[in-house]
Amino acid sequence: MASDRHESMTFREGIERMVDRATLAIGLNPDTAKVVQACNGVMQIRFPVRIGDKVTVFTGWWAVHSTHRLPAKGGLRFAPAVNQDEIEGLAALMSYKCAIADVPFGGAKGGLMIDPHRYSEEELREITRQFALELARKDLLHPATNVPAPDLGTSSREMAWIADTYKTLFPEDLNQSACVTGKPLNRGGVAGRTEAVGKGIQYMLREFFRHADAVTAAGLHDGPTGQRVVIQGLGNVGYHTAKFLSEEDGMKIIAIVEHDGVLVNDDGLDVHGVRQHLAETGGIRGCPLGDYSEQREAGLEIECDILIPAALQGQIHAHNAMNIQASLIVEGANGPVTYEADEILRSRGITILPDIYVNAGGVTVSYFEWTRNLSHMRFGRLQRRYEELRGMAYLNALEQLSGRKAPDRLRRTLARGASELDLIRSGLDDTMRTGFQDLRNIMRAYPDITDYRTAAFALAIGKIAQSYYDLGLVESIE
Ligand code: GLU
Repeated sequence: MASDRHESMTFREGIERMVDRATLAIGLNPDTAKVVQACNGVMQIRFPVRIGDKVTVFTGWWAVHSTHRLPAKGGLRFAPAVNQDEIEGLAALMSYKCAIADVPFGGAKGGLMIDPHRYSEEELREITRQFALELARKDLLHPATNVPAPDLGTSSREMAWIADTYKTLFPEDLNQSACVTGKPLNRGGVAGRTEAVGKGIQYMLREFFRHADAVTAAGLHDGPTGQRVVIQGLGNVGYHTAKFLSEEDGMKIIAIVEHDGVLVNDDGLDVHGVRQHLAETGGIRGCPLGDYSEQREAGLEIECDILIPAALQGQIHAHNAMNIQASLIVEGANGPVTYEADEILRSRGITILPDIYVNAGGVTVSYFEWTRNLSHMRFGRLQRRYEELRGMAYLNALEQLSGRKAPDRLRRTLARGASELDLIRSGLDDTMRTGFQDLRNIMRAYPDITDYRTAAFALAIGKIAQSYYDLGLVESIE
């Protein structure tokens, strides 16, 4: 398995070990811990698709880790090397992520073993539709029970195909568009879902930098401005994260690591330009915006303030963890640091902000999309003009009382109702801020917990265990 080639345990086992650490730290009842850890079920699906004059049999999985809340939620990835262990591990991460983000979902994950680059759009549509059909037939695609979302190798395009397949099967289901999230805007999606993980990481880092003691403990200097960032992966998560951090928060993206090498520019890379080169040529080789080297492994080891692995799992492992020279690691991807690497990095005093909190922006905005689909109305539709009128009324009152005319800028800010994007962003910001404060509260309550990953798992398993206890599924928490 590619993701754990350097490790003595599989991806899923690594996650379980991390959870064990948190379970011990909060003194969770061992039987209850077993219930929380267990993957509820996983289905392997094989289905044939005719492509040209040839029939190919594809293999996919849908794993449901927890159902204490429904629907079970998680991304659906298309990648050549997916396997059941990985999908189960990722489904577990979704349970914990949903608990931290406080969205009322269980955890799930899907995967299809495929290299999407080898197929035309038409072929991919056929394969995706067939997979969706198989899932729906087995009750593994439904607005109330199992709701996929984009992940590695999938985007709003695949989600639109899935939604349309479901609609064809169940036209009478009033809530049909809620069977999947991350849809295009004109197919029931919401503004701000595509860039949600990147925005969430930006909000999360802003919150982190509001806590001077946390910043000092990580060995960083004050404020986001001027932080030197290395980012791995310029896909959806990496690109938006790098773009927001550099364009809006004054950070410098000094290196971008991609599948074909690393691009370095100490003055800060033009993220948009690099992305364009990547889209046009399929890689970063030959990009004139920085110094290129084929040594992608060495890219992760560049000295920097913040390292953001935003590509695949298992990228920082037992064999390179000693060489990492970042003060803070921000896990944009799911599971980019293996269990063994995590132990090494912690012993070296490197601070890690973990995936299950860091990249929760995606599922958070998925939650907003899902509720919007169920309410059948755009956020802010009722209030927007009303808010505008109230703002105008305040402005007029202010002008009358003061006898002065308000400057245009103030007028524009006050006399403006919130758009859907404003509301989504506000909800996302709130989730990321609250998440960080919750992690700090856990670390205060359990002084033995000194790292954010253990705090995040402790927070999540505490909430899930409580929910099992309330349902009478476990006898005790302590
Ligand atoms: N693929 C995303 C994740 O890993 C999205 C999950 C969702 O929106 O359901 O968190």
